Amino acid sequence: MVFIFAFCAIMVFVILRSITKSVLALEEGTRRIADGEFDLKLDLKGSNEITSLSYSINKMRQALRDDQFRKSRFIMGISHDLRTPIALIKGYAEAISDGTIDDTEMLKSSLAIICQKSQQLDDMIEDLLNFVKLNTQEWNKHVEVHSVYPLLEDCFHRLQSDGILLQRRITGSIDIPQSTLIATDEKLFIRVLENLTGNALRYTEQNGIIDFSACIHENQLCISVSDTGIGISQEDLPYIFDLFYRGTNSRREKGSGLGLAVVKSILESFRWDIEVFSQKGSGSCFVVQIPLVRGELP
Ligand code: ADP
Repeated sequence: MVFIFAFCAIMVFVILRSITKSVLALEEGTRRIADGEFDLKLDLKGSNEITSLSYSINKMRQALRDDQFRKSRFIMGISHDLRTPIALIKGYAEAISDGTIDDTEMLKSSLAIICQKSQQLDDMIEDLLNFVKLNTQEWNKHVEVHSVYPLLEDCFHRLQSDGILLQRRITGSIDIPQSTLIATDEKLFIRVLENLTGNALRYTEQNGIIDFSACIHENQLCISVSDTGIGISQEDLPYIFDLFYRGTNSRREKGSGLGLAVVKSILESFRWDIEVFSQKGSGSCFVVQIPLVRGELP
């Protein structure tokens, strides 16, 4: 009995010591990660729970490291994007004030450029603020039952006007009953459509085709925005909805990698689905699926 008791006591002591050691190492590791050492890999062996905890902490560490990397890349990108219009505004303003531009016509066109660049800056800042609001629950969502047909029709008409302006061919159809209802926040819904159609316009060359279609399939409203543009490479495809991610195909286009992250945030907040089909060089297709609301408008 004494032997068994002593053996058990030693075993309990050894196990407790090993657990305490692992927990202390975990505590030290998490503290260092919290202090910003995102490259510190925890490699703890011990009970199943300790191993699985250190595995989860490692995953969290990698997510934090990726997030930090994306944020720094974004800040560099956005600083560059903000600098370009500012440099132009400054250049034209200086030229006007020191008299280099004195001709009335030149003066008019320089002021027009200053206005346009200021507007561009304003839009970029607005986009950023909206994204932050959306993700900090500051956006007061007004979810109501909407007749979706007129919303889709408006978006289609806007796309057609943009197509004429930018020389893209617009096709598509809205094959749903006029009485189709969905529950949404109108502004956010329009934002999803505008981001998707905006991307299709930007990533499709002149005379390319952009198709905007809506239909009902298995009690869901399916909206597809497809284009015959430059397409997305298979390496980029898993990341395009990530915050600040810009694909390798986007180098020539201005952008911030916010558009699809906004789309994803909005869709997730409504629990709607989105699918992407794309191949480099042969266009892209984004399909959003939205559950229908039965009944009639109140
Ligand atoms: P960006 O400001 O870079 O356009 P988005 O978040 O809107 O940011 O899109 C993320 C990336 O997804 C883009 O950089 C681009 O590589 C890719 N992408 C999105 N839409 C399309 C499209 N219709 N055709 C090709 N690439 C696209």
